Amino acid sequence: MDHQHPNVAILTDWIGPFQKTVLKTLQETLHAAGVSTTTYVGRELHHPHPVYATSNHIYQMVQPQGHQGVFVLTSTLGNHSTDEELRAFLQPFRHLPVVGFGRALPGVVTVQASNSRGMQDLMEHLIVLQGHRKFVFMQGVEGNPDSSERENIFRAVLQDHGVVFREDHCLNGDFYPPTARHAMLQFLKDGQRDFDCVVCANDDMAVAVMGVLQEHGLQVPQDVAVVGFDDVESGQSAPSPLTTVRQPVAEMGRVAARLLLDMMQGLPGADVQVPSRLVIRESCGNRTLPEIPLEDLQELDPQGELFAAFLQQLNGIQNAFLPFWKQTLQTVDSAVQLERFQNLLLGWSETSACLPADQQQKALKLGLQASQLVSERIVRLETRQTVGQLRQVRHLSHVGTSMGAHDTLEGLLSELKHSLPSIGLQHFMLALYDQFGRQPGNRVKVQLSSGGVGQEGEVLEACDLLPGVLLRDGASLNWQVHPIYVNDEHYGCFMMVEPPDWGGDEELLRYLVTRSIHHMVRTQELIRHSEELEHLVQERTCQLEEANRELRKSLLMDGLTRVYNRTAFDDYLQRTWKEHQRSGQSLALIMCDVDFFKKYNDACGHLAGDQCLRSIAQALFQAAYRPGDMVARYGGEEFVVVLPETTAEGARRVAERIQATVAALKLSHPASEVSEHITLSMGVKSQVPRPGEDALQLVHQADQGLYQSKRQQRNHITVL
Ligand code: GH3
Ligand code: MG
Ligand code: MG
Repeated sequence: MDHQHPNVAILTDWIGPFQKTVLKTLQETLHAAGVSTTTYVGRELHHPHPVYATSNHIYQMVQPQGHQGVFVLTSTLGNHSTDEELRAFLQPFRHLPVVGFGRALPGVVTVQASNSRGMQDLMEHLIVLQGHRKFVFMQGVEGNPDSSERENIFRAVLQDHGVVFREDHCLNGDFYPPTARHAMLQFLKDGQRDFDCVVCANDDMAVAVMGVLQEHGLQVPQDVAVVGFDDVESGQSAPSPLTTVRQPVAEMGRVAARLLLDMMQGLPGADVQVPSRLVIRESCGNRTLPEIPLEDLQELDPQGELFAAFLQQLNGIQNAFLPFWKQTLQTVDSAVQLERFQNLLLGWSETSACLPADQQQKALKLGLQASQLVSERIVRLETRQTVGQLRQVRHLSHVGTSMGAHDTLEGLLSELKHSLPSIGLQHFMLALYDQFGRQPGNRVKVQLSSGGVGQEGEVLEACDLLPGVLLRDGASLNWQVHPIYVNDEHYGCFMMVEPPDWGGDEELLRYLVTRSIHHMVRTQELIRHSEELEHLVQERTCQLEEANRELRKSLLMDGLTRVYNRTAFDDYLQRTWKEHQRSGQSLALIMCDVDFFKKYNDACGHLAGDQCLRSIAQALFQAAYRPGDMVARYGGEEFVVVLPETTAEGARRVAERIQATVAALKLSHPASEVSEHITLSMGVKSQVPRPGEDALQLVHQADQGLYQSKRQQRNHITVL
């Protein structure tokens, strides 16, 4: 254990207002004792939606030996978990001091709010001081222990005061504003109007109920009082600020830190309950400020100096009090705390009731002036906070837009490096897995680091990342670790240190970083994919063109002899015929026929006959070698040779060359009557095609020539 830099792992499901409030006091108290924290931000455990499971891989990456204690938000993190499941989740940390928060969990030391006291005070206040009698109760999630506890106390206090509760006035809102809204609408639709107070199991539902009532012309609190539980912001700023029960979350954070520190020293830990407190605002019909326990007020003026100054000014010493008062208020940075100063003034004015009448008047006036200063300070503080938050959100969305515009990792990284400091972050780190997929990668690469933590380009085993690198380089800081993932695909982790009074929103930032990485990854994939596709298309086109060429050729080729076929010959003859009509040149045609070929087949067989035809075709092809010359199989054992721009004399020479070439093959013909070898008979004709004449005329003439050659002795050339 590193005693120099003890570090506590904080396991939370979210960084929202509630968590921030807890963590602030927790971290402050730990920090004062020289203990830093690493906050792992996953999502609720055992949530039915699978995407939560992706997020919660982050907890499996935590190396317990890197920490000296664990703080876990059991209440929110375990929203969907049984006690067994939660204990199993904490199993890897069993050797460390562990403090749970907000939910009793056998075997885990827990800090909890005692909600009964505040709820009891709330109900007493509504019945005794406000005189409400006709109640509606809006339940939370069925079977939820918090909801049941609140309802039980509600019913018990009513019973104590003999107030009858009608069961049809018990509604269910699931802790969820839309459900509560629906239940309230239905209730009013059923004609129910006989109620004067709606008690809700949480503030969010109370705010929704208030909206429904106002839509139906019922004023809060004049017609109906509405109260909630939790004291969240939306209740504080509701049209009629909400009376509620405040869970002392900040105080609980401090208590948890002290408990954890004790346990880290080896002391035994025991569960602690911190009482909740009634917070009275307007929504219950209250018109006077509530009583605050005297000891709380004494905390505001422990030496009694403020009160002494108040009395001095009453006694005629000018400026003895108000400037001192104002100066004191300046040091207070919380609206809740400032509200208590109003109560302090109220207490003083009660004290002054025993003064003479003119002094009383003065006290009242001074009290009003002082109260005015408190209000001004609250307004200024809240305005400053709101404006600050708005500015941060605007800034963040601007940064998000710039980040989202990058298609490459390099572009995105340089954008982040530039824009994260501009939103106030000094320490941050982005580590991406070597491979993105359904499981976190085995190795991570530090892509981005700032503030001297981590080294850009450094490649680590994934197990050395958390909290390894953070403790190595930034041991005294309070780090937050956010997993970066989309659906079931793990990208890596984003780590940051929240600056004091940051006012930004970590969840929004995480979302923006995630989206921009996702965009970059998808774009890269698309580019790769389209390149592959383009390549494939090109390859396919080539193959297709080749196949087309082959096809076209095969349509024009004779299958047996591989010279042109009859179709090609007809087409070529027509074309050259017309060309020669235009040019006035002679076109020649040789028609050849194998002599006694039937006999050859009979003697040697058809397969030898086929081979013989192939050899003859080859010989013709060799003999007619000019570029425009064409050899084709006319049919059976007959071939034609087209000789463009050739006179009868030229054609005769080609015919003789054919005869010689075939003769040179010495293809023996056992049944020929004119030779031992295969011979051809030929008819040759050359003419200048005249306008109006048909090419068939040339064929006919050559055929005539062939006929004459046959009639004579075969193996003969006749030129017409
Ligand atoms: P001639 O000297 O008068 O031309 O006598 P011939 O036997 O060559 O003429 P004929 O027209 O009587 O017979 C042609 C023969 O050619 C018929 C057929 O057996 C043969 N033949 C035609 N096409 C093919 C072919 O593709 N393969 C083979 N092996 N023989 C063919
Ligand atoms: Mg024939
Ligand atoms: Mg023949």
